Amino acid sequence: MPEASPQPSAIPPGACGVCGLHADPEARDRWQIGADGLWLLRHHPDPAPVAGWLILDAVRHLGGPIDFRLQEAAAWGGAVQRASRLVQALTGCERVYAIAFGEGARHLHLHLIPRREGDSGTEAWAVADVYRAVASGSRPAADPAAVAELVARARTLWGAAGDGPTLAP
Ligand SMILES: [Zn+2]
Repeated sequence: MPEASPQPSAIPPGACGVCGLHADPEARDRWQIGADGLWLLRHHPDPAPVAGWLILDAVRHLGGPIDFRLQEAAAWGGAVQRASRLVQALTGCERVYAIAFGEGARHLHLHLIPRREGDSGTEAWAVADVYRAVASGSRPAADPAAVAELVARARTLWGAAGDGPTLAP
């Protein structure tokens, strides 16, 4: 993994929610799982729609894969696979959805969502209804204590993931 390096940025402070989270020590303490020079993996902040809903961010402020530099383009697939395997290892889900709109913040943040076959309420676009219901307060969010426990486990697994049996490429 490349070492983290300072990122040149022309983004005014507060202009990008994702950049803001990366720079916020409290957010890092609560939700960040790991980071290298290219990617930052974190749990969805409170209110989290589902425990184990992770988000893989580009460290650099960029809108999406269309903006990748060569190094980012080459590394993206491995990062997505590794993070998706972590979601599965943490939650025991059968599948992991990967969704990126980049509208709430114009900064690539890939939602990695645990998908359990027995839960029809989160099938395909229904998961967006769950997301909106939690955001509006009409559906309870994931228990913050459960999220904190999961983040702790995720950090351990992510740190050992280089050769881990469940997360290795
Ligand atoms: Zn940004």
